[in-house]
Amino acid sequence: MIIDSFGRRFQNLRVSLTAACNYACTYCVPDGKKLQAQSAELDGDAMARAVALLVDAAGISRLRITGGEPLISPKFDEFLRGVARLGLSDVAVTTNGQFLAQKIGVMKESGLGRINVSLDTLDASKYRSIARSGDLATVLEGIDQACAAGMKVKVNMVPMRTANIDQVVPLLDYCLLRDIELRFIELMNMGHLKRNQMYEREFVGMDDLLDLIRNKYEVRTTDAPFDSTSLRFEIPNQGRFGIIANESEPFCRTCTRLRLSSNGFLYGCLSSSKNYSIRHLLEEPYYIAINELQDVLRNAMASKQRLAFTGETTVMKFIGG
Ligand code: SAM
Repeated sequence: MIIDSFGRRFQNLRVSLTAACNYACTYCVPDGKKLQAQSAELDGDAMARAVALLVDAAGISRLRITGGEPLISPKFDEFLRGVARLGLSDVAVTTNGQFLAQKIGVMKESGLGRINVSLDTLDASKYRSIARSGDLATVLEGIDQACAAGMKVKVNMVPMRTANIDQVVPLLDYCLLRDIELRFIELMNMGHLKRNQMYEREFVGMDDLLDLIRNKYEVRTTDAPFDSTSLRFEIPNQGRFGIIANESEPFCRTCTRLRLSSNGFLYGCLSSSKNYSIRHLLEEPYYIAINELQDVLRNAMASKQRLAFTGETTVMKFIGG
């Protein structure tokens, strides 16, 4: 097991199933150009084998399937069934929700119980201008169906100063009513935002966000698991919400995340473009692969940041958020 001087070890794996996405969210990609699959993406079997090896070599116990948009990948069902056999303590998916309703059956069948849906607004025209695609009503219907099927749904919102700050309270109301945990993600200074005034203009920090929410609700701080990226808050008798405060309260010191891109590269840090191919290891006999993975994992761990998220031009599509 690889453990660094801060006591960090890899426990959470995030797999970007494909770099392709049916949306082109303003904070994720420039120019409204929809992301395409990368050349030579791994197939579903190879990805499931990669996960199995990382479970044994790194001690991964939790998996999040992301992208791109994982639910548009033709390998989603095969991959999900493959990883369902690994006995992980937690398998979850992050999606924009456009195809959620169609995938609830295979998710239930494979024992996947947790879904995070990215939803930045409840206003249909704002939705189109942020996501530059998609249909809000279809996403809301998917969320309703997932909740009715007994799945644990969380909603992720990226608050932005001019684009959707007026949606912070309506989205919180919506989530509290449905017993859904809303998680606000502070805008990350990565990808094209690194070279763009949009970041300075749109960033909303945790204090401003809490002030806004406190205009309507009483808010109390509550405990979160030690390696959680999200700070948790309680609204007495009504529910909870979280803030992923990349900038205001960086969580690098307790980060246990490892990322696998759709074309077989491992990333030890969301804020580092250093990557390590493991494609060749997937053909190797088990013990050779496990052995060689130790060196790769040591390098990936060394690329983790110490204190704060400094950002990178790394694009979220390669490593899945
Ligand atoms: N397509 C899926 C979705 O929409 O949830 C999964 C991939 S998306 C890259 C994963 C998450 O990253 C989404 O919740 C999205 O809002 C978030 N994200 C992307 N770029 C971001 C940025 N610059 N700052 C903060 N969050 C970002």
